[in-house]
Amino acid sequence: MKWTAEAEDRIKKVPFFVRRKVRKQVEKEAVSMGDSLVDVMHLEACRQRYMSDKHHQTRGYEIDQCFGADQCPNRAVEFGDMYARMEDVLEDKELLQFLRQTVKGPIKMHHAFRVSISGCPNCCSRPQIVDFGLAGASVAAITDEECSECGLCFNACRENALKPDGRTGRPILDKQLCLMCGDCAGACPTGTIAVTRQGFRVMLGGRLGRHPQFARELPGVWSHDEVLDILSRTVDHFKSNNRGGERLGDIINRTGLGFLSL
Ligand code: SF4
Ligand code: SF4
Ligand code: SF4
Repeated sequence: MKWTAEAEDRIKKVPFFVRRKVRKQVEKEAVSMGDSLVDVMHLEACRQRYMSDKHHQTRGYEIDQCFGADQCPNRAVEFGDMYARMEDVLEDKELLQFLRQTVKGPIKMHHAFRVSISGCPNCCSRPQIVDFGLAGASVAAITDEECSECGLCFNACRENALKPDGRTGRPILDKQLCLMCGDCAGACPTGTIAVTRQGFRVMLGGRLGRHPQFARELPGVWSHDEVLDILSRTVDHFKSNNRGGERLGDIINRTGLGFLSL
């Protein structure tokens, strides 16, 4: 669908990680008005609808993902159908019904249990500040393959997590500094550094608002199925320990993460 230059300028102001989604919504708005050219009026109608929905509608949860799902070259893990599978778990937990029983007054967007999926450690969809956040991870390891000492892996690592062994020139990986982006393995021409596992880092209990806090990260990298199990148990914990509409971060501050028994 074609856009006017003015509408194109306006959409560029939308944060890039949600721009594609917003663009589709605006085009739907134009189609619903019988128009084939998107202009600023459609953007404004869409914005007003969003603001109105935002205050009046929630499913009890909100789920977001970065655009790494289908087009970002940085992604460290394949998303597969993770978004839909997480949505199924959240839907089964009947969070809206739970919130209606727990929260005083109307249920608004800020009461919703928030989930965010990012495809790599850049965390564009901000998983650190939602109730349940994921960041894609590619675990790199040094293999037995011969190293040509080309130095490409050292240049690729933005975390200074790789240092050359003074005797052999082979890389030594500092796991404390490594963010599991997998860039070094992608740069290595000999397979001396290779990705040995892909999955998600899991972050729990992040929030903004009056008392902001970053999520706590579970140690490890988790498969798609493991993430769904952790999500299910986390929502059960959220529901059974909730005092009057608390956010997950508040509950975890009280109970810790022992409920996951990992
Ligand atoms: S989080 Fe990573 S994969 Fe997702 S959009 Fe950002 S850079 Fe790309
Ligand atoms: S995976 Fe990323 S952060 Fe870790 S050593 Fe390789 S390039 Fe550095
Ligand atoms: S590990 Fe790979 S990229 Fe790094 S110096 Fe050796 S051959 Fe080059």
